[in-house]
Amino acid sequence: MTTPELYDMVIVGGGPAGLTAALYACRARYKTLLLERIGLGGQLLTYEKVDNYPGFPEGITTFELTELFKAQAVRFGMEHRSSEVTSLDASGAIKVVHTAEGLVHAKSVVIATGCAPRKLEVKGEAEFTGRGVSYCAICDGPFYRNEIVAVVGGGDTAVEEAIYLTKFASQVHIIHRRDTLRAIKVIQEEALANPKITIHWNQVVTAIHGGPQGVTHLALQDVLSNDTSQLDVSGVFIFVGLIPNTHWLPESVRRDPLGFVITDDHMATSVPGVFAAGDVRAKSLRQIVTAVGDGATAAFSAGRYIESLAHHG
Ligand code: NAP
Repeated sequence: MTTPELYDMVIVGGGPAGLTAALYACRARYKTLLLERIGLGGQLLTYEKVDNYPGFPEGITTFELTELFKAQAVRFGMEHRSSEVTSLDASGAIKVVHTAEGLVHAKSVVIATGCAPRKLEVKGEAEFTGRGVSYCAICDGPFYRNEIVAVVGGGDTAVEEAIYLTKFASQVHIIHRRDTLRAIKVIQEEALANPKITIHWNQVVTAIHGGPQGVTHLALQDVLSNDTSQLDVSGVFIFVGLIPNTHWLPESVRRDPLGFVITDDHMATSVPGVFAAGDVRAKSLRQIVTAVGDGATAAFSAGRYIESLAHHG
């Protein structure tokens, strides 16, 4: 059996954090491999457009931004593969990354696997996923032309995606469990001014109902009065937060109670030689602009770690 090739740095995840870590690692001439499960871009590609990444005063589509990130990293020699990472053995000086296609050895690892959408965990959700229940407006919104849909959640994602869905749907109902939105003000203002959007305050979805054609209606409950009601919709988009993609990590990589990876200011995790960047990390602001900052710092710190190995051993 041949020994797997040894990389200086393996970056797991090809969203903004991973691509920026790759750019910095390649410019510093570390032998770097970026592994991505499906395609480059990550969660970014589940949105249509970005309005808060500096340098693009009119905004930029997520597709274009991903292509620009990628082109810049490739210009400095980024090597990347589509391969799902299943586990990591980080106990020795050489980290062993297990993938569906075999093992990869590395002196350091950058975890940049981002997050997946949190489930609502109500009756009918699993049954109607792909038949009326969706977690991605850009993927499924066009199927709801002139139809009535609901969006669950009150954060940036829910409110932004509700606005996006008004391009297709005749009416968009936002179902939110409180009486104030968590989304930033500029997005709230846009939603409140949109005649196609109705916000249902203090309401939770208790069940998603449907038939052979898909979703037909939602069962709602008022959290203050406990009154129940029914809302007729043909689609429901669930945006109730994020779950970090960390199932592949060993327990030695410390997490916070919500499962996000704990790092110091240098993006170092509890395991020497393992760094984390982007949405997967425990932090207060999950944005592209913070993900790229994390990616740069993680690659820089991983570089210093590799140099320290050379000096000590
Ligand atoms: P989030 O900020 O965690 O918001 C989740 C929303 O879902 C909250 O309104 C929450 O209600 C609600 N929620 C959670 N569990 C629920 C449940 N079981 N039933 C009903 N409602 C529930 O998640 P997000 O909106 O996906 O955003 C994730 C991160 O990405 C945030 O840091 C956000 O700022 C960022 N982001 C930024 C942009 C942008 O800058 N353009 C766009 C998208 C996302 P409560 O409010 O009552 O807690």
